[in-house]
Amino acid sequence: MDAIGKVAVLGIGVLGSQIAFQVAFKGLQVTAYDIDAKALEGADKRLNDLTGTYEKLVPGASAAKVGQARARITLTSDLAAAVADADLVIEAVPEVLAIKQEIYGRISRLAPARTIFATNSSTLLPSEMKDFTGRPDRFLALHFANQIWCFNTAEVMGTPETDPAVFEHVICFARAIGMVPIPLRKEKAGYILNSLLGPLLTAAANLAAGDYADPHDVDKVWRIATGAPLGPFQIFDIIGLSTPYNIMSHGDEKSQEIAAWMKKNYIDKGKLGVATGEGFYSYKS
Ligand code: NAD
Repeated sequence: MDAIGKVAVLGIGVLGSQIAFQVAFKGLQVTAYDIDAKALEGADKRLNDLTGTYEKLVPGASAAKVGQARARITLTSDLAAAVADADLVIEAVPEVLAIKQEIYGRISRLAPARTIFATNSSTLLPSEMKDFTGRPDRFLALHFANQIWCFNTAEVMGTPETDPAVFEHVICFARAIGMVPIPLRKEKAGYILNSLLGPLLTAAANLAAGDYADPHDVDKVWRIATGAPLGPFQIFDIIGLSTPYNIMSHGDEKSQEIAAWMKKNYIDKGKLGVATGEGFYSYKS
């Protein structure tokens, strides 16, 4: 199988912008797709902000190097152009199954037959999308963690129909872009990371939404008593509140109550986490 040289990233939000930047930082050409001019404006800002983040936090990331990385990324709202010559498409659109299925339906017809498709979904199974891709043997999940430049795991999870050679090829790609690839032996919603993190975040939100304790105190207990560097609400802020909100608002009754609490007290006030300067904590200074 030819080496992956051209990558298209779909959905340049919190994670898509980081994936696009990391891939470009490692020397590959990236086409970054988002839905319209307004979304592209936000994407452009996120990518430009990442040049500063990499320069500050990534060893060896000089101003020249991050500038070259940014220059390797082409932004577009033309889906056909985005995937026309891609060796690999990494999809990072919102965590809503219907949106993902719809975009796979479209790119199944627009991308060349050789193109591998990978979903960055945190909680959905690739099996739920494979029949929309037109190439179930060349489709799998490739799941990155937020703050990809330092939390560099890449969980790789196929469906029973994924070609083992494609699986291995994506493992090699992940390593080539500076990730530590982690293969999953079979499908598991939430992979390894979110199977562990999900229950922690839900339990924390339950404590705050049920008014048992203040979010900052929940974090304090977790940090002091376990030695963890971050508490669950600090993690919520890094993830951004919209993804957990989307997940919980489609969950059981208890999850929907937590989602409503998060919406009323934080999301409706524009407090979406680090990306907006405020979430459970303020980052404005
Ligand atoms: P986000 O809301 O920040 O970004 C989603 C992007 O998709 C936005 O730029 C939006 O304009 C765009 N979009 C909306 N509808 C679209 C469509 N129909 N076609 C193409 N683009 C569309 O979300 P996010 O947090 O970056 O999450 C994206 C995916 O990555 C989800 O599947 C999520 O589970 C996964 N993920 C998120 C994190 C995280 O910490 N945020 C971590 C790992 C994986």
